[in-house]
Amino acid sequence: MRVSWSMLFDALKDCSQCPLAATRTNIVPGEGDPQADILFVGEGPGRDEDMQGRPFVGAAGKLLDKMIAAIGFSREQVYIANIVKCRPPQNRTPFPEEAQACLPYLRMQTALIRPKIIVCLGATAAKYIYDENVRITRARGQWIEKKGVWIMPTYHPAALLRDPDKKKEAWMDLKEIRRKFDELT
Ligand code: URA
Repeated sequence: MRVSWSMLFDALKDCSQCPLAATRTNIVPGEGDPQADILFVGEGPGRDEDMQGRPFVGAAGKLLDKMIAAIGFSREQVYIANIVKCRPPQNRTPFPEEAQACLPYLRMQTALIRPKIIVCLGATAAKYIYDENVRITRARGQWIEKKGVWIMPTYHPAALLRDPDKKKEAWMDLKEIRRKFDELT
């Protein structure tokens, strides 16, 4: 059976596949162009996202907007999602069983969007999307091709806010993402 967006949202609506369901305010499915060429994946909703039910709307989100704009796109032209769709308490990293319980939703989103490029924002996204032992400082900026989709890990915008010295590398990664996009389209 082919999945559809309505099937996905129906399944997500009352999801209680993991303990994060008990503490969430809102589920944060993701948003953007349902046929985007670029899919950005973060870790999981924080406080602001949990309150609003929208991804990357807090401080890290403001920086992500700038990163997306820096390569010539708006938020509406890409798709933004997370590994887990519900906020982990105190913004801790999601536990492996929470990430595994939620990954089918990201897989459905990816199957529906069919992006050409997936940008993993930080180690958690990279870990669950392609390499459980990933080291983001080493992996960032390097392409991995999986089933015809180009995957690029880079720093999470929250990491850039904590350590602005990383911005130079992140900027190189973004330029490379734009270059690949131009090559593929
Ligand atoms: N950090 C994330 O990883 N995702 C969000 O949606 C917000 C902050």
